[in-house]
Amino acid sequence: MIELAEAREQLLAACPRLDPIQLASADAIDCVLAEDVVSAVAVPPFDNTSLDGYAVRSADLAGASEAHPARVTVLGMVPAGSAAASPVGPGQAWKVMTGAPLPAGADAVVMVENSSATKAHPCSAAGDSVELYAAPAPGTGIRLAGSDTARGELVFPRGTVLRPAHLGVLASVGAHTVTVQPRPRVGVLVTGDELVTEARELAPGEIYESNRAMLMALLRKLNCDPVDLGIAPDQVSGLRTRLGRAIAECDVIVSSGGVSMGDADPIKAVLEELGRLNWLQLAIRPAKPFAYGLLDGPTMLLGLPGNPVSALVSFTLLVAPVLRQLLGYHNVEPEFIPAIAEADFGAQPDDGRTGYLRATAHFGPDGRLRVQPLLKQGSHQLSAAARANALVRVPPGLSPAAGAEVATLLLH
Ligand code: AMP
Ligand code: MG
Repeated sequence: MIELAEAREQLLAACPRLDPIQLASADAIDCVLAEDVVSAVAVPPFDNTSLDGYAVRSADLAGASEAHPARVTVLGMVPAGSAAASPVGPGQAWKVMTGAPLPAGADAVVMVENSSATKAHPCSAAGDSVELYAAPAPGTGIRLAGSDTARGELVFPRGTVLRPAHLGVLASVGAHTVTVQPRPRVGVLVTGDELVTEARELAPGEIYESNRAMLMALLRKLNCDPVDLGIAPDQVSGLRTRLGRAIAECDVIVSSGGVSMGDADPIKAVLEELGRLNWLQLAIRPAKPFAYGLLDGPTMLLGLPGNPVSALVSFTLLVAPVLRQLLGYHNVEPEFIPAIAEADFGAQPDDGRTGYLRATAHFGPDGRLRVQPLLKQGSHQLSAAARANALVRVPPGLSPAAGAEVATLLLH
């Protein structure tokens, strides 16, 4: 048997790199920048007003208040997207709307709430007179050019994971395309004579197939580009053709089923023909068997056990880190955090295998994470795993009781 951490290290070392690609920034959500982004423009591009009000010369309003208003003559109104036709002279003001360029001569903006303007008398036409009730310091109500991002500034360094606000910033600096690590193309191949995908009644010995929908969804959530390779035919020739096509198309192939020790599955034989495979026995429960290797292409094969919970667990602990590395993320390892067991977690057999138990987790009133094991811990009991939002790690031979601290990985 091999420890999980060692297996993960092997996988990460064997994983090929993908070349960066150009992508429309708006489509690059959750991708990782492969190059620094430097702004070609200042944001905002010009000094502008941060509120609706009157652009004034602050010296004209010294000492102004509601009791002693300052009276100025309005030159007209400047909406956002427009510009003042003339500078503000002594005793004058432009009515300005949020985002309008600051008129020349003005050095402050008084908000409309601090004026005699009303809905009925908006005081925005040339020649109107308005009373102002505040004495703003120079700079009040003004957003300076470049105060968000300066021209030539490093906006985001390479390695940045692009989240929604990053996409907004890229648009704001006019970076319409970005160089990022590509989303890995990941083929999903399920194997097994007993598996049925069609909507028909099951014949004796058959079951409805469940891993494909789960794995495709896991891949989508991880920001990968999943490719449905269907159910592997059990004849070797069909499997060879199917895999050959998949290798040409995919960066990674994730398969389920046929990796157990006792298996005489044709997939094992065909994979052996196509590349150098490593058949591992992981020191974990569930999901002991795992295969990986490089097929011509180079395409990395990651072979999961067929039992649905095992497939889910080994995807989470081994496949996800590989895909995160391919995506260019820095933190690729699953992050276990301490939690308090709210119930007995049962005894893990002392057989060298670390248990990963399906559990529900929530933060208690004290702010600490609390976990409770789910009842059905069998590797075929996917419905219990679906209700879990955490995996709890229990080393071999231990039986954490209620109140004990346990290492927990939050899922989703
Ligand atoms: P295997 O790893 O191929 O030996 O399969 C182990 C168990 O998982 C068997 O009971 C299979 O029927 C079941 N199994 C394998 N693949 C799937 C699948 N895609 N969906 C549901 N059950 C599966
Ligand atoms: Mg099978």
